[in-house]
Amino acid sequence: MAVSYKEIGLVNSRELFVRAIKGGYAIPAYNFNNMEQLQAIIMACVETNSPVILQVSAGARKYANETLLRYMAEGAVQYAKELGGSIPIVLHLDHGDSYELCVSCIESGFSSVMIDGSHWPYDENVAVAKKVVDYAHKYDVTVEGELGILAGVEDEVKADEHVYTRPEEVEDFVTKTGVDSLAIAIGTSHGAYKFKPGTDPKIRLDILDEIEKRIPGFPIVLHGSSSVPQDLVKIINENGGKLDNAIGIPEDQLRQAAKSAVCKINIDSDGRLAMTAAVRKVFNDKPQEFDPRKYLGPAREALKELYKHKIINVLGSSGKA
Ligand SMILES: [Zn+2]
Repeated sequence: MAVSYKEIGLVNSRELFVRAIKGGYAIPAYNFNNMEQLQAIIMACVETNSPVILQVSAGARKYANETLLRYMAEGAVQYAKELGGSIPIVLHLDHGDSYELCVSCIESGFSSVMIDGSHWPYDENVAVAKKVVDYAHKYDVTVEGELGILAGVEDEVKADEHVYTRPEEVEDFVTKTGVDSLAIAIGTSHGAYKFKPGTDPKIRLDILDEIEKRIPGFPIVLHGSSSVPQDLVKIINENGGKLDNAIGIPEDQLRQAAKSAVCKINIDSDGRLAMTAAVRKVFNDKPQEFDPRKYLGPAREALKELYKHKIINVLGSSGKA
């Protein structure tokens, strides 16, 4: 074992999920690829006293370097303390696509991993998830599996159409694999274009209900849960951007899901929109600026405010650290 997450002050997600289900809220799972995003996440969570799951995707590992990201997460633990917070921080691999990748992350200090075998045949998904669980649990690292396929594009992960999770499979899957949480597909999707214009943006809460009946109290995860705030889309488009027909999941539907067994909600695209809106506005308003801090600073501030709003009004995790 190279390094244990416990030595660097991280926690796994087990206890957080138990409390979230009992308390009727969800833990924010926010992705980071750079310093400003990580600062915004930690500031937002300390200021609202919320637990947090820091997520690293395959795309982030490629973009920022996996070693650097892992040390940034270690730095974030200390940074949160400096800000006066004692919030639980999980370091989670988002969309792990192989057993080897999960092992490598666990060895480098991750406290939680996702093995996403949802695009493989069911039996293969079960087999690889079980293999990851058997390894991870030796080190008290928690594992998220996935059943069903989310539409949309997120870094390396893409699919053209939804394949909703089949409730009749969930009990068999969690029993055979031993995963600690399950990501499901009920109509959330990756990216900023989640629904066609003119259609009613709705997630399938009926499927969620059915799943909860089959595995009562089991931690459920929603990916692709951005709401694509139209005020941000407007700022982007008014300042030289071109985002047509970007539509997300209404926040009240996510709030409703968070009150049930949904205990982890992944929000990424909304953060990208908030940063892009802030950067575009600076570029447009002050074309003479060329110091990156003068546009990344406002982007960081916008991201922090967005994440605080999500914690307080959508996830319900404020004050739960
Ligand atoms: Zn995802």
